[in-house]
Amino acid sequence: MKVYADNAATTKISPAALRAVISTYENYSGNPSSLHTSGQLAAEQLLTARQKIAARLGAEAKEIYFTSGGSESDNQAIISAALLGAKRGKKHIVSTAFEHHAVLHTLQKLEKDGFEITLLDVHENGLVTPEQVANAITGDTCLVTIMFANNEIGTIQPITEIGEICSSRGVLFHTDAVQAAAHVDIDVKKMHIDMLSLSAHKFHGPKGAGVLYCRQGIALQSLIEGGAQERAKRAGTENLPAIVGMAAAFDEECANMRQNNEKVAAMRNRLIDGLCEIPHSALNGDRQSRLSGNVNICFEGIEGESLLLLLDSKGIEASSGSACTSGSLDPSHVLLAIGRPHEVAHGSLRLTLSAENTPAEIEYIIKTVPGVVNYLRNMSPMWEKLEKGEMQHVI
Ligand SMILES: *Cc1c(COP(=O)(O)O)cnc(C)c1O
Repeated sequence: MKVYADNAATTKISPAALRAVISTYENYSGNPSSLHTSGQLAAEQLLTARQKIAARLGAEAKEIYFTSGGSESDNQAIISAALLGAKRGKKHIVSTAFEHHAVLHTLQKLEKDGFEITLLDVHENGLVTPEQVANAITGDTCLVTIMFANNEIGTIQPITEIGEICSSRGVLFHTDAVQAAAHVDIDVKKMHIDMLSLSAHKFHGPKGAGVLYCRQGIALQSLIEGGAQERAKRAGTENLPAIVGMAAAFDEECANMRQNNEKVAAMRNRLIDGLCEIPHSALNGDRQSRLSGNVNICFEGIEGESLLLLLDSKGIEASSGSACTSGSLDPSHVLLAIGRPHEVAHGSLRLTLSAENTPAEIEYIIKTVPGVVNYLRNMSPMWEKLEKGEMQHVI
């Protein structure tokens, strides 16, 4: 059996999105900036895509900027807010220790440029509290950037409450909603979100397309200079087929959100219960405030990388954390942020489901993982020490 359970890394493009991409290539080959008919027909497609996405976010079409993906949107949002802050002498930014690297590395760069960065600690359950945010904001704060849902452990943050605090304190609020999009209801106005990042390939859209929502009245800064595309905030000929495909995917996934979440959460719950029967295992992140498709479990005494390779040889494609850090030997910064010790964080397994997975696949995973974990533990010097009592079990 072949099971793809790495939907937080990327998803397969949906048939509707693929059809939209192909039909745009076939029928709308003009440049949306051209004044002739082909150009204007392409421009109409661009506007329709913008309106569709805006409607699903509770935004206005003119507040939607198309980018190359989640990383670019995160970079542009944070750098824009930092430049605006610096103009008013405000150079403090609040974020969390378990953001995606597109956020963390941008903040590290700003820190070198003289910004002060506060990274909030994340509680053991993978959540930050609105009180932590309120306490961290000072008179110098220009931006709070906190992810909507975490890409490794799937925890969903109290975004509305955080948005209210930022709004009442006059601080810009950006959220990386790449993992939450099409899984959680998002209304940027009700949630007091000033800027928000999306990525098409995380919700069954094409790779290389994303959205930055930026509330009207905030002076977005462009990272790419050139033509006047995207209200002169993002130069370069639009990737129209990918943008139209993204809008089709987002529309469809939002329309089916409730029914997909129900189906996927039932499989997730069965998977968590099945895998947590393995001795000395523990779920990472809160069980309730969690994306419907996220399972992230630590197994004591094993190496996550070896587990992944053995599971792959049995047809199960999963991850040990984020795709971006696999290949490095450092344990996940997210698992360290929620207080897992290094040796436990090394033994993590992330399985992220979509509505394309089936209950039979879940049973196959539940049947396969215990044998692989046992096999690895039997070869592990650390497990031997744990079994002999020379080391203490922590989970
Ligand atoms: C995947 C991901 C990104 C990066 O998106 P790309 O479109 O791949 O650049 C950013 N943030 C989160 C939370 C993600 O999961």
